[in-house]
Amino acid sequence: MQALRWHGEGDVRVDEVPKPEIEEPTDAIVEITATAICGSDLHLYNDFMPGMEEGDILGHEPMGEVVEVGEEVDDLREGDRVVIPFTISCGECWFCENDLYSLCDETNPNAEMAAETMGHSPAGLFGFSHTLGGYDGGQAEYLRVPHADVGPIKIESDLSDEEVLFLSDIYPTGYMAAENAEIEENDTVAVWGCGPVGQFAIQSAWMMGADRVIAIDRIEERLGMAEGHADTEVIDYSEDDVYEWLMDETDGRGPDRCIDAVGSEAHHTCVDHVPDEPDRPYVLQEAIKSCRKGGTLSIPGVYIGEMDGVPMGPLMNKALTVNAGQTHVQAYLNPLLETIENGEIDPAEIITHRGSLEDGPELYETFNDKEDDCVKVVLEP
Ligand code: NAD
Ligand code: ZN
Repeated sequence: MQALRWHGEGDVRVDEVPKPEIEEPTDAIVEITATAICGSDLHLYNDFMPGMEEGDILGHEPMGEVVEVGEEVDDLREGDRVVIPFTISCGECWFCENDLYSLCDETNPNAEMAAETMGHSPAGLFGFSHTLGGYDGGQAEYLRVPHADVGPIKIESDLSDEEVLFLSDIYPTGYMAAENAEIEENDTVAVWGCGPVGQFAIQSAWMMGADRVIAIDRIEERLGMAEGHADTEVIDYSEDDVYEWLMDETDGRGPDRCIDAVGSEAHHTCVDHVPDEPDRPYVLQEAIKSCRKGGTLSIPGVYIGEMDGVPMGPLMNKALTVNAGQTHVQAYLNPLLETIENGEIDPAEIITHRGSLEDGPELYETFNDKEDDCVKVVLEP
């Protein structure tokens, strides 16, 4: 079969590889019909993630049709149409039982390596380096799905692939980011980053009753898309001083809730656009500085390992609440599918680029360089 494989920094290729097979009785094999490229894939693409090996299959936002199930799989059958969460979770450990699926203790066989190189050991993730389990990813024609009764959600309505695909990651991620921001009615919410995660965080903030939502980025197409969600106001950080803007607009208090939907990208790939040293957690610094005293900071943006320069003094003395984490996707699948079914949201609206696996390498480059007004890429193997 064909798969997109990592061959080093900025080097993704379409390769011919063996089809996956059932390895555990709880596995399913899914024929992939749609699979997206995520901002998190860019951390791998740019070689920021420890534990990548040449030939690793990428991808963690897939869906498709079940073609085979292991003996112990009860809920799925051949022919079922499923969306697959990026988090691989056993469903039985303490963390899964408490709905903390992305913290599953059982699905990362390389937990020790993760603890050594990153200081913690999260759940196994599809297509996400050996540090996070070494699982093959879903930018391929077929995918082996471990713990098939715990992850995948069956799609039984006639919604299109594009309408439901983002349940695999970025819609739940944006939604959990807004939930983690503890948004209440009358709140002003600031969202750093108008990539796919930011777009869903913005829409979720409105769904949760925010009074104002302010979106921050520098890319025109993305700011324009953000403005399309209700009355979102936007700041272009390459033109305006974000802190000054936010203070002026909130009677000098700052936004009640701040969401960092950028992550380490700000200091790795946007060095040209932010001042000072490249190793600062720039968005975190700006968000902590801007957030009103007693407010909440939500961090869906991914950071890897240790990072100096986090303003602990202001964070503590301003009495900020901080909520973070990889998304507990399984906990959000059913309620968020309902919001798509009842027309509250159309996740497909953020798709700007489509292609086949063969177009993958070029589309990785376009998405990484944020060229050609690219916001979200979907591949159809
Ligand atoms: P993306 O790269 O498409 O978007 C990031 C956006 O941030 C870009 O539009 C960029 O212009 C903007 N940006 C960069 N520097 C900025 C700054 N200083 N101020 C404001 N905006 C700035 O990525 P994405 O797919 O939207 O993902 C965003 C982050 O969320 C990534 O770190 C990704 O790894 C992470 N993520 C986390 C989870 C999770 O489970 N927590 C899941 C998916 C993605
Ligand atoms: Zn993702």
